[in-house]
Amino acid sequence: MNIKENVVPCCYELSYDLMANAPKIILRIHESIIKYCAILKSEPIVKEFMNDFGFQTFNINFNSKHLGFDGALENNGTSKDFAELSVLLPLVKKNTDENCHWCNGTGEDQCDDSIECMSCNGSCKEHVYDYDLAYKISASLTVLFDLLNSLTLQSTSFFPQLLTVQTMTIKNAHGGSLNGQFSYILVQWLQCNDHKIIAICEAVKNAYEYMYGSKYQYPGDNFRLRVDKTGWFIMDCPGGRCGIYPTQNTMFKLSQNSGYDFTSHNVDNPMQQLSILAGLAALHDQVRATYYAIK
Ligand SMILES: [Zn+2]
Repeated sequence: MNIKENVVPCCYELSYDLMANAPKIILRIHESIIKYCAILKSEPIVKEFMNDFGFQTFNINFNSKHLGFDGALENNGTSKDFAELSVLLPLVKKNTDENCHWCNGTGEDQCDDSIECMSCNGSCKEHVYDYDLAYKISASLTVLFDLLNSLTLQSTSFFPQLLTVQTMTIKNAHGGSLNGQFSYILVQWLQCNDHKIIAICEAVKNAYEYMYGSKYQYPGDNFRLRVDKTGWFIMDCPGGRCGIYPTQNTMFKLSQNSGYDFTSHNVDNPMQQLSILAGLAALHDQVRATYYAIK
């Protein structure tokens, strides 16, 4: 699907719901496309994920309550011509019963007892990162995006496809990488609405901190978002310069009334990937509300 120069009927879209105790990314697939998703059941990529990650099941029946690998996606049914799948963000950083080895269970910073220990965030407990559910969610989205982006048939939606995204799911460095396209409509919005990006940054922070289990208090500009008058968009979350940015050849296209490609850097795990996806979903919400409010 090329949406950079062409207006393509909406095949799928993203939304973000930052309800405090159950934030979720919502993937909405146009109902004219649903029947093509059944092919995933026999796709080699699904079998590979099940072998590589030990997933038990894969369900793509839209009459079921849960879809994807081991039911990682919740099916909310069809609304306003779109089937709606909820991605309930998982808790990834979990406390164990052992005392935090960094602060010896005091919960305080070793150098300054007026601030919390940055390892346990004052919980006094040791922690583990449990990515099991995050991998199931990420892999489920990866196979769906892979199919939706490759469809040659167009949907019957009256809305345009505003952005596309393709994730990957690998247990390794850069294993949560993602890329995609911004349509010209979306880039136009970025050019005129740089003052509205705070809501997008808040979505990334909200998603990351929910999965992290607490406020992310490490010093530095960890949730960085920048957009300029050309529509150049950069979005970061915690990690080593982890985030998305326009591809190198984009700067030559920004003056040509077109959208552009974006790619990622150092997105190593599904917690970072889902946080960036939350930001893209919040961006989609803003653009959709500006030009194509759902009636
Ligand atoms: Zn501690």
